[in-house]
Amino acid sequence: MPDLDNPLRNLPQVQRLLETPGGRALSATFGRAAVTDALRDALARLRAQIGAGEVSGVPDTQTLLARAGETLAQRGRRSLRRTINATGILLHTNLGRAPLAPEALAAVTEVASGYCNLELDLASGRRGARTRMLEPLLRELTGAQAALAVNNGAAAVLLTLSALARGGEVIVSRGELVEIGGGFRIPDVIRQGGARLIEVGATNRTRLEDYRGAIGPETRVLLKVHQSNFRMVGFTEETDIAELACLAHARGLLVVADLGSGLLRRPPGASEPSLNEALAAGADLVTCSGDKLLGGPQAGLILGTQAAVDPLRDHPLLRAVRLDKMSLAALEATLMLHRDSPQRVPVQQLLSQTEAVLQQRAERLQTLIGMGTVERTDAFAGGGSLPEQRLASRAVALPLRVGMDEMAALLRNCDPPVIARIAEGRLLLDVSTVPDSDLAELAAAVKTVLT
Ligand SMILES: *Cc1c(COP(=O)(O)O)cnc(C)c1O
Repeated sequence: MPDLDNPLRNLPQVQRLLETPGGRALSATFGRAAVTDALRDALARLRAQIGAGEVSGVPDTQTLLARAGETLAQRGRRSLRRTINATGILLHTNLGRAPLAPEALAAVTEVASGYCNLELDLASGRRGARTRMLEPLLRELTGAQAALAVNNGAAAVLLTLSALARGGEVIVSRGELVEIGGGFRIPDVIRQGGARLIEVGATNRTRLEDYRGAIGPETRVLLKVHQSNFRMVGFTEETDIAELACLAHARGLLVVADLGSGLLRRPPGASEPSLNEALAAGADLVTCSGDKLLGGPQAGLILGTQAAVDPLRDHPLLRAVRLDKMSLAALEATLMLHRDSPQRVPVQQLLSQTEAVLQQRAERLQTLIGMGTVERTDAFAGGGSLPEQRLASRAVALPLRVGMDEMAALLRNCDPPVIARIAEGRLLLDVSTVPDSDLAELAAAVKTVLT
């Protein structure tokens, strides 16, 4: 006779649950010991909830077994997982930025599943610097005399300033003292590099005269920072790299340009200079990320003149920010693709999708879901790249069954997780970042959430 006054007394025993058909089925999949553990967990949680008055009755056997099954399935899943990006942000920092090309993945598998000549010069049999092999490629692609690759873009800036400006002054326009995101602020990086920041100009206008007036005996570097994630419009003026280079070189100073996204070729309409253009304009060093528009793994590139790059090679910080063999393999393979067939770099493909293709894909997704409407929308390059570029896209707008945030959370909880875009009070699945091969899985996830 169940004791209605005290639900704790009615909790089934682990042994009894294990002997039910459902319990046996779980044991066959996950092993009896793991199922015992998971059931104990489920019962302990329930006991706590009953004790706290959050739950009054005892769920049936099926529900308890299902909870244990969910715990077991989750334990078997890695926490870093493939995710469906339906945000329409091509280079989404929270979603791992650039997808890698098959060639890059093959290179990673090859060098990481066994040994590789990471720091061995095969010709001489001696120890070699780990990013030497990238130099000829980077020289060819960008026109730089010398190159170095490190762990990420932020590390590239930090190493550069530490090696070239420590103890001295770095002059930056007030309009370029940006925060890139995740707490990466240019003034902080300059301080970390052991240099003093000299701000010049006004937020919206900085002229060559402002830089000239600020140069003193301690000045080492004129730093130009790409504004990345924001745009100034209206009454604005900035000094370009060529003008800065003239001024700097007449005074024996260096021009460093932190370009951020790493364009090898400037797409039509883009306002930011490519790596080639910045170097040709006279920058002594340029830095950028490997996983933004370059379309490679997380990495930071440092390109420039021999005289500017050489001091970085012996700097102690280089060891702390060095690239690992997997990133290095992926970076080299991506750079080779840029040289031989740039249209095969996934980011390039994402940027060049036509509206007709996106319309078709959105219609297919809408048909597979059987609900929602296809709508015009804009996708974004993201990662602070090409912020002014409008990428015409299509999305499926979902009907809302529950609150929007709740629905977004349910989608994130799917397997694979789905990240949708919330825009103007609607939940959108932008198809520009969803490959055709993911449509069926995306539709299935959405259907379970909607029904
Ligand atoms: C993205 C960016 C960085 C930081 O690069 P990470 O690779 O994310 O470390 C630095 N500067 C600029 C201008 C950027 O856009």
